[in-house]
Amino acid sequence: MLLLAVGSLFATGLYAQQVLGVCGNSTEDQRLYEHRLLANIETANAGGVTDRGAVQYVPVYFHLVGDANGEGKVKERLVLDQLCALNEAFSTADIRFYLRAHPTQNTIFNYSINATNVYSNQDSWFTMQSNRHPNALNVYIVDEAVSSNNSPGITLAYYNIPRDWVVSRKDQISGASSNSTLPHEVGHFFSLAHTFLGWESNPFDSTDPTWPIAPSISPGGVPTERMSGSNCSTAADKICDTPPDYNFGLFDNDDCNYDGGAKDPSNVDVVPMENNMMSYFNNCSAYVFTTQQKNVMVADLNSSARNYLDNNYTPPALEINTPTNLLVSPAAGATVPYYDEVLVEWQDLPEATWYLLEFDLVSTYATPFAQSFMVNTNSKLVTTLLPNRTYYWRVRPINEYVTCAAVRQRTLKTTGTSAVRDIEGLTAWQIAPNPVRNGENANLFVQAEEAFDANIRVFTTTGQEILNRSNVHFQNGDNRIELPVTDLRNGLYMVMLQTREGQAVRKLSVLK
Ligand SMILES: [Zn+2]
Repeated sequence: MLLLAVGSLFATGLYAQQVLGVCGNSTEDQRLYEHRLLANIETANAGGVTDRGAVQYVPVYFHLVGDANGEGKVKERLVLDQLCALNEAFSTADIRFYLRAHPTQNTIFNYSINATNVYSNQDSWFTMQSNRHPNALNVYIVDEAVSSNNSPGITLAYYNIPRDWVVSRKDQISGASSNSTLPHEVGHFFSLAHTFLGWESNPFDSTDPTWPIAPSISPGGVPTERMSGSNCSTAADKICDTPPDYNFGLFDNDDCNYDGGAKDPSNVDVVPMENNMMSYFNNCSAYVFTTQQKNVMVADLNSSARNYLDNNYTPPALEINTPTNLLVSPAAGATVPYYDEVLVEWQDLPEATWYLLEFDLVSTYATPFAQSFMVNTNSKLVTTLLPNRTYYWRVRPINEYVTCAAVRQRTLKTTGTSAVRDIEGLTAWQIAPNPVRNGENANLFVQAEEAFDANIRVFTTTGQEILNRSNVHFQNGDNRIELPVTDLRNGLYMVMLQTREGQAVRKLSVLK
C-alpha cells in the first residue's frame, strides 16, 4: 500500500519533496520486541531509573561498508561528526556513546566489509555477523539499506531485530544535529516503538473511509491512542507521555507542523508531537525523546539483554583542546620533494589516541580526490598523492570520549618528481625531521610491502662514509628507525638504504 503510494508520487513528481524515506521497521518488526518494551516500561514505572544521573557509556562500532572494490565507503569525518550528533541527541538521557576498538581486529572502524551483498542490500548476514563487535552497538553504514518490507531506495535505516544491529544508508550519516535517522534507530535498539505504531503502512489521512475520525484499531492491528490518555499504556507505542500520532509525518509538508485535522476515535482533535525522535515528521529543527522514552531506554540498557555492551566501562573523560600549532611538517604551503612519498607529521597529544588525517584538492574534503587515514601515531608517509598539485591536509585528534575536536589544516604542493624505488619490497621511505636541528636524532620512516634487510649508510657530500649500520631488518608495513646524527656537523649528508639488489638515497641536512 505504502509502496504503491510512494511510487505514484514519485511518478507524478508533484510531491517529490514530501516523499520521505522511511525507517525500515514495520509494525510487525516492532511487535517482535514488544516484550522488551513492556518490561522496560514496567521497570521505568516502578522507579527503576528515577535515580538516573550518572552517565552510562555505550560502546559503538561502525562498519564502513564498501562495494566489491572497496569503493564507496562513508568518510570517517562524517561518522565522527554523526557520533557527536548522536551523543547530543542522547545527552539528556544520560547515555553517551564512544568508539571502542574491535577486540581482535584492533581497529576503531571496520573497513573490511567490501561486498555488494552488504553494501547494496544486506543479504549476507554471515559477513555482517562475522565482523560484528561482540561488546558494542554495531552500526553498518551502507549504500542501500534494504529491509524486508520496503523496496530499495525507500529505507533510510533500520534496526535488525534478530541480529540486534543497526543498518544505515551512508547519506544519513551527516553529523547534522537536525538529522534524526541514527538516533531514531538507536531508539529502536533500546526497545522504543514508533509513536504511531500500527500506522506504518497506512498513514491516516483524508483518503480513509472514516475520515476525519480514526478507527479504534489501526490498520496494523494496534489499538489507536486517544488524546485523553485513557488507553495510552495499551495503545500505539505504550508510552504515555508521547501524544497520539497516526503517522501524520510521512505525507506532511516539510514544516514540522501537523494541521491535517484528524480526530481520535473519541472525536477529539489530534495534536501529535511532531519533533519526537520516533515520529516521521521532517524538517524539525531539533528532535527529542520524552522523559518516559528516555527512562525506557535506560531501563533497556540496564536489562540483561544489554549485558554484552560492557556498560561497566567508563572511558577516560579526556577533553582535547587542539593546539593551534598541532601540525609540524611540512611547513604551511611547502613544496614537498616527491609527490609519491610525502611524510606529514604533527604533535603527539597525550590525550589523543587516534588522528584522522585527510587530504583533498579543495578544503571541503568531499571531492573524489579526498583521501583519509585513521592513524594511531603522529606521522604518516603518504604515497597516494598526485603530482604537481596543491593539497589541503588536516588532522583531527580523537579519543574514545571526544570525536569532534578542532582540526588543524595546511596546504602543501607536490612536484612531478617520483621517488626512485629500486629496492625490492621498499614502498616508500623518508627522513624526518629534515633538516634535523639542535642535536636531535633523525628518524628513518620506511614503508615495506615485504620484509627486507638493508644497510643504512650515511655519507658526506664528498662521499666520506660516517655511519654504517649493516643488516637492519625492516618488517612488512611501517618501520621507524632512529638515525644517530647528534654528532654530525652542520651540512648536507646523503643517507643510503642498500641491499644486494639495489640502493636508494635521500638527502639529510643538519643544522645546529
Ligand atoms: Zn523506526
